[in-house]
Amino acid sequence: MGNSSEPITGPDFEQGVQISTIPVNGILLGHVAGEAVLLIRRSETFHALGATCPHYGAPLSQGMIVGNELRCPWHHAAFDLATGHASCPSLNPLSCWTVELRDGHVYVRGRKPRVQKSASSPHVNRVVIVGAGAAGNAAAEELRTQGFNGSISLLSADTVTPYDRPNLSKDYLAGRAPEEWIPLRNEEFYREAGIDIRFGVRAVSLDATKKIITTSSGETFEFDRCLLATGATPRRLSVSGSQLPHVHYLRTLEDCRRIISAAGQAKNAVVIGSGFIGLEVAASLRARGMKVSVVSMDAIPLQRVVGKEIGSFLQKTHEANGVTFYLKRNIDQITAQSVKLDQGELVPADLVVVGIGVSPDIGLAESAGLRLGGGGVEVDTYLETSASGVFAAGDLAFFPDARTGERMRIEHWAVAGRQGQAAARNLLGQRAPYRTVPFFWTAQYDTTLAYVGHAPAWDEIRVSGKVQNNDATVAFLSQGVVRAVATLGRDTASLEAEAALESGDNARLLALLKE
Ligand code: NAP
Repeated sequence: MGNSSEPITGPDFEQGVQISTIPVNGILLGHVAGEAVLLIRRSETFHALGATCPHYGAPLSQGMIVGNELRCPWHHAAFDLATGHASCPSLNPLSCWTVELRDGHVYVRGRKPRVQKSASSPHVNRVVIVGAGAAGNAAAEELRTQGFNGSISLLSADTVTPYDRPNLSKDYLAGRAPEEWIPLRNEEFYREAGIDIRFGVRAVSLDATKKIITTSSGETFEFDRCLLATGATPRRLSVSGSQLPHVHYLRTLEDCRRIISAAGQAKNAVVIGSGFIGLEVAASLRARGMKVSVVSMDAIPLQRVVGKEIGSFLQKTHEANGVTFYLKRNIDQITAQSVKLDQGELVPADLVVVGIGVSPDIGLAESAGLRLGGGGVEVDTYLETSASGVFAAGDLAFFPDARTGERMRIEHWAVAGRQGQAAARNLLGQRAPYRTVPFFWTAQYDTTLAYVGHAPAWDEIRVSGKVQNNDATVAFLSQGVVRAVATLGRDTASLEAEAALESGDNARLLALLKE
């Protein structure tokens, strides 16, 4: 993964292209004034959009058109064909150009001005957002994109502007990502957008009836609508030695910088937990040349999420890269030089990183008497909690699937961002159900796994391709219905699976497994 961009290739769209050369419902890559541009044909309607995903630079010519959206092949950001509006994980829209049809040709003309919306609601003048992670930040930005011109207070417990958290356990920790990749925005952005972002602020009480939030310093914020996007906190290990200074957790940018600094002095890292943090951190510390061991209660890494075959493949990939696993083990004790396991082994460790899951931060919701559930805060299909005017999005939202009604809580970056955007629109009164199919990705060494859907349990796994060759589509089914699809090295299949899950097209999903 990295910041690439589409090359300047194909026709010069200013010179025009014959309509017949543009595939129906297809994408043609070309250029306009030295910039890579896509010409997209939806039967007899044409759109011209930027060809490079503003999120991580993916080539959008390899993306997919679904309905009125162009979707990114890498991390499934979605862009409105007519306006370029971005759905997370991209925060930036795509440029759009005007298109002219003449004499059987399509000509791309000037860049379209951004659509200025004015979706303000007469009842909403003050919005307070608690939490400036993926959900909170995306919500604040979406409010402005939708034309809301009232006040927005974005209360962040963090001390820096919102950042790209997924990168912290991947390229940034590995030393491959420059500092400038990490902040999502700078302070000037919030100033110009009129978003009052406050740093180091902890909201401690919410009065959902009087509509007031109070912070730990006693400051109060009155609101018409409020969004709880408080995220989650890493679970702490409680064994002897777990308070030692070389024992770290990874959630914030500050945590990550502390680990990087410690890695400069240390040689032997023990990673506790073989979930997302555990595996990504192990790969990143190997990239720094450290000796890395992973200790976990799991029998197979990530097995509960991606099943035995992918889990074993990931384990082998790590082992081939020099990582040692101690599985089905508990920790007895941590000392300054080692981690002692329950079967007596002493694993050398002058750096320990713990990734044993997170607990959603529901204290504020609980104190306000909001309905809780699934370890989080219950919301309806519009992401509104049991208190009118109070919404929740991200790690803490226990939301109903728009298709099945089944409730779930998802702890992934792209989901949090999408929910933040959806909550923003709904708190302005748009009443649009949150419908996005969950998506996450993980990158470890040269392996990138994409996952769409949600399968907390399954009774069957079907595989097409070869997992061990890093080229496979793996479906998780319950009673013959595909609930989720994981792909290795197959971006297009992941986009197709997402679209089929969205439309409930099980036949298409099953057909994908034969391709
Ligand atoms: P996680 O993915 O839930 O994994 C927790 C791991 O710790 C599991 O392997 C678990 O084993 C193990 N474990 C639990 N208690 C343990 C103990 N006492 N001793 C040893 N192992 C123990 O959580 P995470 O890796 O900490 O990640 C934190 C959050 O960040 C999650 O919400 C995750 O989704 C998110 N995240 C996502 C990505 C991504 O999407 N790529 C990347 C990084 C982080 P069992 O399964 O047996 O309980």
